[in-house]
Amino acid sequence: MAGLEDLYREIILDHYRSPRNRGELPTPPAVRAEGHNPLCGDEITVFIDVDDSEGEGVVRDVKVSGQGCSISQSSASMMSQAVIGKSVPEVLAVVKRFKGMMSLDTGNDDDTGADEPTIGTGGDGAEHPLGDLEALQGVVKFPVRIKCATLAWNTLLEALDQ
Ligand code: ZN
Repeated sequence: MAGLEDLYREIILDHYRSPRNRGELPTPPAVRAEGHNPLCGDEITVFIDVDDSEGEGVVRDVKVSGQGCSISQSSASMMSQAVIGKSVPEVLAVVKRFKGMMSLDTGNDDDTGADEPTIGTGGDGAEHPLGDLEALQGVVKFPVRIKCATLAWNTLLEALDQ
């Protein structure tokens, strides 16, 4: 078990040291939302550019800026990777799935389990449907840090609402 936790720590630190999709996008066309976790001092700004020229919107690009602890920043980096190129309904499904992983009452969610999107390339994500995001599941053991991990995701939802 220690081996797996070491791996997860490595993944989190990698995203923290080399955050993906860091920066800003011009608004408009992108929209921006800010999230703040006063418990820890984490700040996240999410820029999201949704192409809704045809039917359901597709996330064309996401950029993240902000500062905070390793959990909040690595989660934001993983979030950006997880949603670029996905349709809005797919993004909402990923958010739901991630927040499900981050909630303490797991085990009995009412998801059908069918048609759930995978993260990453190809369709071979069945074993690890959340990819790197699974590295954050250890955070559930530390309730204070759950808000760090979900901050970027709640901010993303706020941006999508606009
Ligand atoms: Zn934090």
